[in-house]
Amino acid sequence: MNWRKPLVCAMLHLSGSGVLTRLRRIAELDGGGRQELLQYQRRKLENLLLHAFRNVPYYRRVLTEAGVVKEGKVRIEAFADVPPLTKDVIRREGSNLHSADHRRRGSYENASGGSTGEPVRVLQDRRYWAWNIANKIYYKTFGGQDIGEKEFRLWGSERDLLYGRERTLIRLRNWLYNRVEVNVFRMSEADMRAALERLNKERPPWIEAYAESMDMLARYARSNHLPVHSPRGVLTSAGRLEPEMRQVIEEVFSCKVFDRYGAREVGDIACSCDRQEGLHVSVWNHYLEALGENMEPVSPGTIGTLYVTTLMNFSMPLIRYEIGDMAVPSGKDTCSCGRSTPLLARIVGRTSGVFKTSDNKLVTGAFFTHLFRNSSARQYQIIQKDYDRIEILIVPGAETGRAELDPIARDIKKVMGSRCEVKFCFTEEIASTPSGKYLYTISELE
Ligand SMILES: [Zn+2]
Repeated sequence: MNWRKPLVCAMLHLSGSGVLTRLRRIAELDGGGRQELLQYQRRKLENLLLHAFRNVPYYRRVLTEAGVVKEGKVRIEAFADVPPLTKDVIRREGSNLHSADHRRRGSYENASGGSTGEPVRVLQDRRYWAWNIANKIYYKTFGGQDIGEKEFRLWGSERDLLYGRERTLIRLRNWLYNRVEVNVFRMSEADMRAALERLNKERPPWIEAYAESMDMLARYARSNHLPVHSPRGVLTSAGRLEPEMRQVIEEVFSCKVFDRYGAREVGDIACSCDRQEGLHVSVWNHYLEALGENMEPVSPGTIGTLYVTTLMNFSMPLIRYEIGDMAVPSGKDTCSCGRSTPLLARIVGRTSGVFKTSDNKLVTGAFFTHLFRNSSARQYQIIQKDYDRIEILIVPGAETGRAELDPIARDIKKVMGSRCEVKFCFTEEIASTPSGKYLYTISELE
């Protein structure tokens, strides 16, 4: 029996956080019509712009220059003239991006994950937190997961590796939410074996994991013919889930994979449902744009740079924030699951993982990971060192050798140019980023 649900709900209710009210609102909006949903989003966007204009020094200037707020009124048609908010602008402007009333809003500091360069610091507030948690719970319902059901987490960002006084709090939180956490900050062979043994012992209905960690675990189990517990669903996040990763995880764990996309500085942005027709965008919390080089929206099916506006964080509004990923808007109007939210076809990936050829063509990281789809390698990481130099780190499996790697090198040269040098380096371990993410592709070009 799931006795935790009433306990968690009572605690959320008593804390006055408003999480449950927002959760109901989200479900109601997504279950209603598309028009109402978009109108709701637009009202939120207008409120945010007005608030930013009145309370945030940077936006007072920028929104005036763009003509978005004139005589106390929002002119949404001028929104496209708002300059993108880059990480450099955030670092440069500092407290000019803070709202004058952020303390009253219960602001706290958070930082981006930092898988690409130095992290940026943002202020978030109580209301943002409540919407974000409500949205997290909502996305989990896509697989049928209810509050308080046992969840196995393959996790390990430095923030989760807390110590001292907070460790007890985290333990308490995990107990309350019925979470079993396994640290995947680094995954040696012994760690992976231990993680699988723990999983088989705990037999959780749900797994939440870094996409890459789950993929590594699935590959490890497969190549060592180890038995695995099959949960009802796996929710992956914090890294992109390439199609071949989904395939491996679904095969090995015999269940559906739900792909969630988000980032610490903006919360969860989109998540796929069991139909896997795309990722449902959290329009109640975000306004997303996928834009081309001319800053015009790209057409469905085309890759655009992703700009995120967080609708609920008034302490430090992020408007047209260039998050560092690219996305493909879906050509499908709605998902067959019946939810009203618009879809992203896919997230293309960290721009650091986008490679450049010497004649300036972009090659997405997915191309390279695809080449390793049937590889026996236990782990790999492809690094673009220069336009004509690619280095591939490999933790080899029993059959990893020239017969397998030479065709991969040939395919890379076909795309990157015949002068491109491809070097394989065998290693025992590939390090994760400081935030615990493990990247498949890294471009060291600026
Ligand atoms: Zn759907």
